[in-house]
Amino acid sequence: MIRTRFAPSPTGKLHIGGARTALFNYLFAKSNGGKFLLRIEDTDIKRSSKENIDVILNGLNWLKLIPSEKEKYQSNETQQHIDIAYKLLKNGFAYKCYLSTEELNEMRNQSRKKGEVIKSPYRDNLVNIKNKDFVIRLKMPLKGQTTINDKVQGEVNVNNSILDDMVLLRKDNSPTYMLASVVDDYNMEITNIIRGDDHFNNAFRQIQIIKYMNWPIPTYAHIPLIHGEDGTKLSKRHGAENVMDYKKDGYEVEVLKNYLLRLGYSVNDDKIYDLENNTFNFKLDKINKSPSRFDLKKLSNMNALYLRTQPLNNLLNRIKTKFNLNEEILERLDFLLPDLIQRYTYLNEIENDFLWLSNDFTNNLSDLNQENLNLVFEVLNILKSTEWNLIELKENIEKYLVQNNLKMKDLGPVLRMILTGKTNTPDIFKVIFIIGRNECIKRLTKV
Ligand code: GLU
Repeated sequence: MIRTRFAPSPTGKLHIGGARTALFNYLFAKSNGGKFLLRIEDTDIKRSSKENIDVILNGLNWLKLIPSEKEKYQSNETQQHIDIAYKLLKNGFAYKCYLSTEELNEMRNQSRKKGEVIKSPYRDNLVNIKNKDFVIRLKMPLKGQTTINDKVQGEVNVNNSILDDMVLLRKDNSPTYMLASVVDDYNMEITNIIRGDDHFNNAFRQIQIIKYMNWPIPTYAHIPLIHGEDGTKLSKRHGAENVMDYKKDGYEVEVLKNYLLRLGYSVNDDKIYDLENNTFNFKLDKINKSPSRFDLKKLSNMNALYLRTQPLNNLLNRIKTKFNLNEEILERLDFLLPDLIQRYTYLNEIENDFLWLSNDFTNNLSDLNQENLNLVFEVLNILKSTEWNLIELKENIEKYLVQNNLKMKDLGPVLRMILTGKTNTPDIFKVIFIIGRNECIKRLTKV
């Protein structure tokens, strides 16, 4: 059975790139009747606060990327990691290295000049020195090549001579990420590792542990990173990196997910796919090989278009649950929402319209010129005498305009400002009609 995992380190945000990694892992597992797992890599105690972990859990929750099993915490597995390091040591695949920091630095300088990786003298000179700190290093093969047939990067060969004897256990006996993540993946029976290609180099070193342990080798797919519009790696400069900021800004979760999917995966149309109910067939060979560019404008366009396709009832229900609205606003919303929604990029823009949809609306227009005041006066008379339906209203106002040689643009903007305080609203006749005779008269009389 396919088992994938998302393995974030709690950094205080769920990065947009991480969210995409999670999404790909989720979709791939679900497309194959497999399981999507979550492992929190919380071994850096300083950063792994409960708040930082909650940021990840909440982010995934919002994205509805729900793991198939309870999440695992790397910090709970430390003993397992230590045991494997000692097993490798016992079997001659690792060694204790007693080099001091100064010695290491000196060796690094030397080897850099020669363009080689450092090899500790303790590699071939196995010793046990009492009362001296050591790290446990993996004994990398010296000759030959390591080949990874990555589902995205293709077949890549690396000369083993450039792989350094990486540290497995530090001097304080704490396991490194390089060891811990491999052991955890094995224990969690992960079959497919789908992650950012910033980890591709690590794979060539991590795979040695797997081979020495005789564990099944997972299938790798290292996905190109997301870049900003200027082609550099996505960072704060390009806008929000944290998924929850998109929620705050009013992005629809389905839109964000679909956008993340397109950032690195080929789809032929601009449909918004249902990415939740196992209907999307995710294939690794459709992952793009080159980095994608994050384009906020495209994302907001998608959001606006998506809103317009949503059943009005759903939107209305969401609005009702989110805001505590009185009857008069609800009734007006019910009537105007189809027009209002055409003007929004984000549903939360509706808050601005609650102001004038409410009878509490007061505008602070004070400087209307005489000409406009006369117009308002005439409209008031029409409103008072018109039978209250949209057709009559429209006919009577238009008749007045024609008779006085006026155009809608002479009247519309003024009425709009007075009745709503805005320059852009749905059709002004609809606005007048649904606000109602009394309320319109009240607002117009004020000026
Ligand atoms: N914890 C690593 C990170 O956040 C992920 C490691 C992995 O996926 O193997 O980058």
